[in-house]
Amino acid sequence: MIIAALLLLQQATAASDPQPYWQQQVAYEIDARLDEPTGVLSGTQRIRYQNRSPDTLRTFSLHLYLNAFRPGSRWSAADSAEGRRRFNDLRDPDFAFNHVRNVRIMGTPVKPIYPFAPDSTIVRFVLPRPLLPQDSMTGEMEWDARPSTVPRRQGREGRRFDFAQWYPKVVVYDRYGWQEHPLYPAGEFYGEFASFLVDLDVPADQVMGATGVPVCGDPGWERANQNRARPVEYQRGYYGSRTPPADCAAAAPGRKRIRWYAEDVHHFALSLNPRYRYEGGGFGDVAVHVLYQPGDENIWGNGVAVERTIAALTWLDRLFGKFAWPQITNLHRIEGGGTEFPMMIMDGSAEQGLIVHELGHNYTMGILANNEWREGWLDEGFTSFQTDWFWETIGRPGGYEDTEAGILLLDIDDYSEPPSLVAEAYRDFSSYNTAIYSRGKLFFQQLRYIVGHDTMHRILQTYYERWKLKHVDEAAFRAVAEEVSHRDLSTFFAQWLHSTTLYDYSVGKVKTVRRTISRVDSLGRVNRQTVGWVTRIEVVGKEKGRIPVEVAVVAERDTGVVRAEGLAEREWVEVPTRSKPKEVLLDPGVLTHDWNMLNNTKRVDRSFPWIFGGRGHVERYFHPYFSTRSRRDKLTAGWHPTVWYNDAGGVTVGLRSLTDYLGRFEQNQALISVAQGWGSDEDVKDIDFFIRRRNPLALRAPNASQTLDGFKVEGRFGITAEAEWTRRAHLSFGPTWSRSATLQWVAVDDVRYLDTGLYDDVGTVELQLGSGVSTESGDWQLALRSSLGGGLAYNKDGLAASGRPDLDPFYFRGSVEGSARRPLGSFDFGVRLYAGVASGDQEAAKQRQIYFQGADPLQQLTNPFLRSRGALLVRDDFHYHSPGGAGVRGADPHLSTAAIVAFNLELERTVMTRPSGLFHRMALAAFTDLSHGIGGSSRDFSGGRLRFLGDAGLGIRARHRIGDTEFSTRFDFPLYVSRPDLAQDRDQGDSEIEFRWTFSFDEAF
Ligand SMILES: [Zn+2]
Repeated sequence: MIIAALLLLQQATAASDPQPYWQQQVAYEIDARLDEPTGVLSGTQRIRYQNRSPDTLRTFSLHLYLNAFRPGSRWSAADSAEGRRRFNDLRDPDFAFNHVRNVRIMGTPVKPIYPFAPDSTIVRFVLPRPLLPQDSMTGEMEWDARPSTVPRRQGREGRRFDFAQWYPKVVVYDRYGWQEHPLYPAGEFYGEFASFLVDLDVPADQVMGATGVPVCGDPGWERANQNRARPVEYQRGYYGSRTPPADCAAAAPGRKRIRWYAEDVHHFALSLNPRYRYEGGGFGDVAVHVLYQPGDENIWGNGVAVERTIAALTWLDRLFGKFAWPQITNLHRIEGGGTEFPMMIMDGSAEQGLIVHELGHNYTMGILANNEWREGWLDEGFTSFQTDWFWETIGRPGGYEDTEAGILLLDIDDYSEPPSLVAEAYRDFSSYNTAIYSRGKLFFQQLRYIVGHDTMHRILQTYYERWKLKHVDEAAFRAVAEEVSHRDLSTFFAQWLHSTTLYDYSVGKVKTVRRTISRVDSLGRVNRQTVGWVTRIEVVGKEKGRIPVEVAVVAERDTGVVRAEGLAEREWVEVPTRSKPKEVLLDPGVLTHDWNMLNNTKRVDRSFPWIFGGRGHVERYFHPYFSTRSRRDKLTAGWHPTVWYNDAGGVTVGLRSLTDYLGRFEQNQALISVAQGWGSDEDVKDIDFFIRRRNPLALRAPNASQTLDGFKVEGRFGITAEAEWTRRAHLSFGPTWSRSATLQWVAVDDVRYLDTGLYDDVGTVELQLGSGVSTESGDWQLALRSSLGGGLAYNKDGLAASGRPDLDPFYFRGSVEGSARRPLGSFDFGVRLYAGVASGDQEAAKQRQIYFQGADPLQQLTNPFLRSRGALLVRDDFHYHSPGGAGVRGADPHLSTAAIVAFNLELERTVMTRPSGLFHRMALAAFTDLSHGIGGSSRDFSGGRLRFLGDAGLGIRARHRIGDTEFSTRFDFPLYVSRPDLAQDRDQGDSEIEFRWTFSFDEAF
């Protein structure tokens, strides 16, 4: 009895919605005239407004959106903050405006209030008397509107005009009150459903498209029609008895008047271009108008854009339901990209994907009208999702995988923000875009994964049927999704829309049971017969994200799949199979946003070697040197042979393998090499190795990277351990910071490999703490790096450093390096300042001193073309420059000392660029490098200690791209070297000015 009463009570509560849905009723009557030479549309406007809210209104607000596209607006301020210059610098007559004058409400003149001044995209008026619920009023006003010459969702160019958000537009009053909101770059629009009667007076030769239907007058379609076989469908009578009178007034000579009418739309857009070409088509009773530009004949014309628009409409009609309006106009606007308006899409191209996306917005945004700055995901994410679904249905999937992996990397490094933020609250414009488009799209894809395709389709149809031509929000959509799917989706909505949590499920314990039945045969014997297997699997949730996860058991002849709810941290599921189970796989379709797929598999039989997640879950391939494969669901392992040469080991051959996961983890290397002794005097035959473990999954932390190297290479062995942290303040601008700690031990065991000008026969152990920042400021690209640390040098017999009395076991080592680059006229200007010191009570070992020419010996330890005596790039007859140190590129690379300050300057002029490939950029350069050494030098010089060393010259640079690898080839000609006897490229008796050359695969700095 009590239970029944409680149930009744619960039903009663559910049935009585505390606040039933309502929306305001608005009707616009606009009469406007376009003055083409000034670009100004001037009009009068009457707004009839009925207050259907339960509240008494005391003010009334209008959007004047065009005022965003001018200096002083909040839009311009947000642009400036992110380093963009668009409307900030526009002068009259280039910027946009929408001025409103002589406003009378309820017949009484009212004064404008600009609550966000100096931004004037919102104007507010105090009502002469309060407007009670259900009461109506009228507002009348005059205005001028001009689009900007820099287009953004609107614009003008010569006689072309894209008018969007161009008239004083009623601010939505909803259950949160007046939605007064200045226009920012992030976030779009929100409007009251209204009827629009728009009378336009324009030059007689203009061709125009607009929201609504032309009641009377000539939009120019007949004359512009390219498909004479298909008469233009005006739909002048679509609204039947509600259609306003077709009595367009007579126009002045050379002008024409057109009357447009639309119902149930929250915006009215229009576009004019006297050179528009027209093509028409239809889908059911929906007319399709396409307006394109001269030159578009083959890409828009010949029915292409019409067909694609109809294809999109067909798809959307099937997905959601019948289109709510009489027509759709698809036109080629001034700006690239695309923007949606009711009954109109303005597109920069006639690509099918763009048309499906923008036309999809006529459903999600136009008909299902969300507040675009509060819940942009509900239109952008939604239409991006349905566009991918469209491609899937015609066999072109792929949108999901790319987005999913991209978002995952942002999640892992803690750059993601949830899709549910108010648009201008995002850290920056690209975070906003990523959240509402990409993460928003994933939300719908995840929902479809949870409920299934068919249920998802029913959710969309129910949502459309219930909410078309109304304002929608998350609650509206969730209520429908839960009702149709019969699922509690609270955790899913909360996590996907309101957080950016990580997901990781792994296979825990696995137990397999053979299912048998006993049969008694004709002789009375009991036989046990196997009829199948049951695998019990523990699904372990290792992160906070919760989502249902599919568990597959691959058996010898069949595969069983069940779904774990994924809510508990540990959950057991049972998967029956007919044949013997071999392997367990979590999320075989890669649909759960699981960041670590490598713990998603387990062999059941355990007879296999179990390395890197099990055999079959590593993609092995031949690594083509310049590109590394990476996958979302598997470890990749590439291998290739290597070969190089040095004077001690001669020709050295090896085999190298490189692994990767997600382009972020397990970037491990293993290299084994054998010196053959061929072609060398020393005939050393060594077997060497280099092993690197980088970014293991177990050490995942946002922005953190870890590297551990162990090596025995060419007369040296040791270990390097490095932890690095890198963080961008914003994804598209602002500073990037880095910090690092490096511990390196390098021991020398075979001096035959070593250039004794670069190495003392001692081992070193060194700790370095590094920090850096790079940023842009105006045209400047700035970078600052410093390192601070010290170490210990020791010889083989103990701590005393070698037999050298002048070598101190302990040394300090530090450097500071700042660089700045900027364009200077048609040149690129670059400057670098450097100071480095490596010293103790006495000087440091040679391999730890500061070098005049470039990088120090240990920086070249991992490069077989540089690290040993006689290697290919460091031979006597080859003049190579490894950037670093004081950077005096013309100097002998053996010159080092305890401390140097240096200054480098470059002026570069690009002479050729092309999109990619080899030689995609060629430049000529002039440079000078000036340095001052402090302390003793690694060599004895005539004239004692080396103080000033400088060079100057010219260079030729080229940039190349092969696969994923971008690199330079740089020939520098240090025609002047202050100490010709210390130049790298030198001959006896050289003077300061000589022809000399150096080469490098890297930029100088
Ligand atoms: Zn969009």
